[in-house]
Amino acid sequence: MNISTESKKALRGGEYLIKETLATDIFIPEEFNEEQKMIAQTCQDFIDNEVLPYIDRLDKMEPGLMSQVMKKSGELGLLAVSIPEEYGGFGQSFVTSMLASDIMGGGGSYSVAFSAHTGIGTLTILYYGNEQQKQKYLPLLGSGEWLGAYCLTEPGAGSDANSGTTKATLTSDALNYIINGQKMWITNGGFADVLTVFAKIDNDRALSAFIVERNFPGIKFNAEEKKMGIKGSSTVQIFFEDCIVPVENLLGKRGEGFRIALNILNLGRIKLGANVIGSSKRAINLSVNYANERKQFKSLISSFGAIQYKLAEQVIRAFANESAVYRASQNVEDAILTFIAEGMEKGQANVEAQRKYAIEAALLKVYGSEMLDYVVDEGVQIHGGMGFSAETQIETLYRDSRINRIFEGTNEINRSVIAGTMLGKATKKELDILAEAEKVMAEITELKDKPKFSQEYYQLQKEYIANFKKATLLVMKTAIDAVGNRISTEQEIQFNIADILMQLYVAESLALRVEKMENLKSQQEMSIYKDILDVLMYESSLIIFKAAVDAVYSYSPENDIDKLINALIYFTRTQPVNAKEARRRIAAKLIEENRYKF
Ligand SMILES: Cc1cc2nc3c(=O)[nH]c(=O)nc-3n(C[C@H](O)[C@H](O)[C@H](O)COP(=O)(O)OP(=O)(O)OC[C@H]3O[C@@H](n4cnc5c(N)ncnc54)[C@H](O)[C@@H]3O)c2cc1C
Repeated sequence: MNISTESKKALRGGEYLIKETLATDIFIPEEFNEEQKMIAQTCQDFIDNEVLPYIDRLDKMEPGLMSQVMKKSGELGLLAVSIPEEYGGFGQSFVTSMLASDIMGGGGSYSVAFSAHTGIGTLTILYYGNEQQKQKYLPLLGSGEWLGAYCLTEPGAGSDANSGTTKATLTSDALNYIINGQKMWITNGGFADVLTVFAKIDNDRALSAFIVERNFPGIKFNAEEKKMGIKGSSTVQIFFEDCIVPVENLLGKRGEGFRIALNILNLGRIKLGANVIGSSKRAINLSVNYANERKQFKSLISSFGAIQYKLAEQVIRAFANESAVYRASQNVEDAILTFIAEGMEKGQANVEAQRKYAIEAALLKVYGSEMLDYVVDEGVQIHGGMGFSAETQIETLYRDSRINRIFEGTNEINRSVIAGTMLGKATKKELDILAEAEKVMAEITELKDKPKFSQEYYQLQKEYIANFKKATLLVMKTAIDAVGNRISTEQEIQFNIADILMQLYVAESLALRVEKMENLKSQQEMSIYKDILDVLMYESSLIIFKAAVDAVYSYSPENDIDKLINALIYFTRTQPVNAKEARRRIAAKLIEENRYKF
């Protein structure tokens, strides 16, 4: 197969699988402009001065403290980054709002309150509100005078969110809806002034969305949940008992609620990918600080290969995740601008752009949350017994991290989204996936022993990525042929495909970032980024191979299997890499600087 080498600035969602992206076409974090850096610094100062000194008190749920800190961030403008100027905000770009989420991610349970408020709590109104609703609520939410929450989940409706039973009935004078039902796990529920509530009108099968103010009659708030982590973040059950909501507070159209919920989830997922960056860097800093202080066997533990391995892997995965997040963020921003230029209303342009990159958003959510779990878990390990002490920050980060695999759609739901959406694009011929896969099928009968690789470093990376794409296409094509429509019930195979698609996207994003960095860094500086890329590319080849073989063994008839496995070996082969030495060099830089500076 000839994966197209044509330069495509604006790839469609999922199109990375069949098209080559050039390094010049992606955005990398090294390209933030001065204004973005200033906003990032303001966020960092806020976390360092107004959040982390109070984190223990926040996590003990000192009454009123979280809403006080939230309001303070509002006074400083930090809650209004994405709100357009006409509603009292700063109208910053999508990439800038991702950068704010990234830095705020280092703020422990505060960052969950921040994300729920600025994301699902505010943007639902920005994207779907009518002019009157936007004028009324956005300035209050942007300034932090009012805080927001989002009420979708119910005791019986979690992953299957559309199965909720909360009801809304129109009063006979048609002036109000009466809402009855129960919501649970509502972030910021303990203090939020404005809630987006999903309920079904009469006997509708689809949800509708409503803007509900805290002081509307008929709302009861339960006590705070006792949680494993993010303890300072408010999480409550909410009961609606004949709650009276004026008709003008219907958000969007009747029956549009589930679509609103799904679209807002796309945003929440990509934002979570950014959020974990700040948290992972904090965990890496704590890990290396400890490793540089703790002595055993008369040596600093940072001198041990086993600890260096962990430190290096933390850096590699965090750096790779960051590369993928900002690549996708710029794609979303470009799509927003294109839609607006074509005449689309701004809110709708945001929604459509995020929907376009739903695969990328889901894979960033899964990769980011699992990356962070790895980083904090090894962080605890580096701290030894101290990591298990409730007195250390790494212990808090370890517990706080776990929620990321559960909310914004569990990682199981997101893996289904990644694979299901990509397979759908193939079978519905939205993307030329099957045609490209046919070419790979033809190619595998003539494969040589092993690929002949280029000597040029970045050309070699491109060849790896092109081959990984061929391996992915092989698995998708043979899975569709063997399992057909049953694929939606063969979740194990879907998850194999999701893992491959995710690793592929991250590896390609990292390779493109490192290539683009060549213009910005000296050769000496570049050597460490090449180490990061070498290790991740080598690990990706093994991850993709394992997932591909898992899938193929589960459906392939015996007489085809050798040919398929040989092809997978061929397409996931990389040149030998001394990963041990590369990891040592990465760890050495981290240890020398005693903080994450990559
Ligand atoms: C701290 C916290 C804060 C939250 N904040 C909010 C909030 O602000 N607003 C809000 O509306 N909700 C919120 N949630 C709810 C959260 O979004 C849900 O918990 C989540 O969507 C999972 O739903 P569930 O808990 O009912 O799990 P379930 O859906 O019951 O899932 C249980 C297990 O089954 C798996 N599973 C379910 N369906 C499938 C399937 N089809 N295929 C494969 N596996 C499946 C899941 O992946 C999971 O492993 C929050 C939750 C927590 C814990």
